[in-house]
Amino acid sequence: MNPDSRKIRLILDLRRAGITDPVVSAAIERVPRHLFVPTAFAEKAYENTALPIGCHQTLSAPIVVARMTQALDLGDRMKVLEVGTGSGYQAAVLARLCRRVYTIERHPDLLREAERRFAALGLTNITARPGDGTLGWPEAAPFERIIVTAAAYDVPPVLAQQLAEGGIMVVPIDDGSGSQTLLRVRRGAEGLDTEDLGPIRFVPLIAARPTAS
Ligand code: SAH
Repeated sequence: MNPDSRKIRLILDLRRAGITDPVVSAAIERVPRHLFVPTAFAEKAYENTALPIGCHQTLSAPIVVARMTQALDLGDRMKVLEVGTGSGYQAAVLARLCRRVYTIERHPDLLREAERRFAALGLTNITARPGDGTLGWPEAAPFERIIVTAAAYDVPPVLAQQLAEGGIMVVPIDDGSGSQTLLRVRRGAEGLDTEDLGPIRFVPLIAARPTAS
């Protein structure tokens, strides 16, 4: 099977699994996932499975990318912050659906590879930088949407501060016993509202140690 027919099969699988937003499916259809994984795994790129990307990190399964993207309810004028660039695949999907993506990755090697892919695909509306994403991107804040693609123990407070009023953040939360759920956090006039979107599985979010003062 060639990548195109594999991709069509994947889109049908995602629809069966609850990805009903045609805009999200179209964005997934337009991003060549096989270019975001090591060549050894390119054959599996359109299977609904997570894949290793180096530095002990993984690119989430397409259903997870699709679920989180759908939960963000993106608009094409929005500015979005992603924490955990990894391979760059999720950022590339977001870039098809919003005005600009800011993405932060703590592993410089992964970031370099991701940036190479963005350039090769002509994705000029992604700005990426290395660092600790739990500190957000103050110069570009506030963001209409924030997506954290690694599991935190709590909603990172600095990220909540950088969320625009009416904005949405999706973040996997680990309850400490190893089980994780996907939270959708909305900033209303009165504060944050959270909604549990069900079980999910991510690598941990690793915050840099605060420097001694
Ligand atoms: N969104 C990625 C997959 C994420 S895997 C993709 O589409 O491929 C989680 C990523 O989060 C890993 O690359 C990990 O290095 C990164 N990460 C973990 N903690 C982080 C932090 N505090 N700041 C930035 N990146 C972080």
